[in-house]
Amino acid sequence: MRSAQFKKKIQWRWKLKVGRIFGIDIYLDFSWFLALIFFGFVFQRIFVQALPGISLALSWALGILAVLVLFASVLFHELSHSLVAKRYKLPIPRITLLLFGGIAHSEKEPESPGAEFKITIAGPLSSFFLAGLFFSLFRLVSNYPLHFIGLEHFLCLKQFLEVMLWVNLMLGIFNLLPGFPMDGGRLLRAILWKTTRSFSKATKWAAGVGQFFGALVFVFGVLNIFVFKSFGGFWLVFIGLLIILGARASYKQVSKTNPN
Ligand SMILES: [Zn+2]
Repeated sequence: MRSAQFKKKIQWRWKLKVGRIFGIDIYLDFSWFLALIFFGFVFQRIFVQALPGISLALSWALGILAVLVLFASVLFHELSHSLVAKRYKLPIPRITLLLFGGIAHSEKEPESPGAEFKITIAGPLSSFFLAGLFFSLFRLVSNYPLHFIGLEHFLCLKQFLEVMLWVNLMLGIFNLLPGFPMDGGRLLRAILWKTTRSFSKATKWAAGVGQFFGALVFVFGVLNIFVFKSFGGFWLVFIGLLIILGARASYKQVSKTNPN
C-alpha cells in the first residue's frame, strides 16, 4: 500500500496535465521535455542543412514549430485509437505523450479480434492520412509559389511541409513494426486471436514475436556500433530494449488479468 501510494505520488510528479479532448485527459510525461530539446535540435539541424544561409533564429523557430507539430501529430494518432476504442465501449480516461510517442490508456482489453484490429489500425492510418495532407499542401505550395511572403519564407514553408510529411510517414511505419505492444504487434495479435480463438495464446505468441524482433533490432544496433562504428547504433540498441521490455511487461499484465 505504502509503495503503491509512493508510486502514485511519483507518477503525479512526473506527469503534467495539459488539457482534455473528447473527455480524455491529455498528459505530458517528463520525458516529453527531453524530446522537446532533442527533436528541436534534430529539426533545427535539418533546416540548417536543407536551407543554406538561413538565420539561426529562423532555424530554431522552425525547429521548435516542427516539434510542436510532431507532438500534435502523435496526439492525433492516439486520439484516432481512442475514438475508435470508444465506439467499442472501451473507456480511454487519458492519453500520455512521452519521448517516443504516446499511449492511449485503457483499463480493459478489446472484446473481439475485430475490435482490436480496428482500434489499432486507426492509429497508423491517421498518421498516413496526415502524411498525405502534408504532401498535398507541399504540392500545392510548390505549384503556386507564394511571392508575397518572400523567397526565404517560401522556401522555409516548403521545407517545413516536406519534413512534416516524412515525420508522419515514419510515425505510421514505425508503429507498424511487429513488436507487441506497438501497433504492428497488436495487429498481429488480433490476427492470431482470430485464427487460434484464444486471447492469451495470441498474446503469448505476439509477445514472443515482439521480443524476437526487439532482439533483432538490438543486435543490429550493437553491430552498427562495433562493426560499422556508427553512433546511430545506440538508438537501435535503445529501441530494441524498449521493444523487448514492452513485450514482456504487456504479456505479464495480460496473463495476470486473463488467466485463460
Ligand atoms: Zn498507435
